[in-house]
Amino acid sequence: MGNRSSLLLREEEIAQIQQETGFTPSQIERLYSRFTSLDRGDCGTLSRDDFLRIPELAINPLGERIVNSFFQVAFKMYDLDNDDMISKDELLAILHMMVGTNISEEQLNSIAERTILEADEDGDQMISFEEFCKALQRTDVEQKMSIRFLN
Ligand code: CA
Ligand code: CA
Repeated sequence: MGNRSSLLLREEEIAQIQQETGFTPSQIERLYSRFTSLDRGDCGTLSRDDFLRIPELAINPLGERIVNSFFQVAFKMYDLDNDDMISKDELLAILHMMVGTNISEEQLNSIAERTILEADEDGDQMISFEEFCKALQRTDVEQKMSIRFLN
């Protein structure tokens, strides 16, 4: 990471979404830019409900599937070592990238610990994709742990 344009969909991600949804690359690009423009004026936060409010998705029986594909992209952004689990260290690394040096190490550490605590259902101190999706769907957690697109 470290490349600030890395938030654009990569070709392999487009290919994966295309395979899963049957959308063309240009349709996917268009939806993706709609997604990123859904931020309601504050800090690039998108919730699952925001995704599902998109008219094209609401009327499309594959809407849920497409949203899940984007969740997978978001999950992979956190899962730096690609083992399908988000560890506290990975959360910390992402937090570092998001907030830079404005917050003390101690505060970041407690944010990461709290996030794991809230999302971790089976108590293994890691967030699986399933736990990640569930956490995003719980309204109270949603505000704290929404997908943040770096920009
Ligand atoms: Ca991992
Ligand atoms: Ca877990």
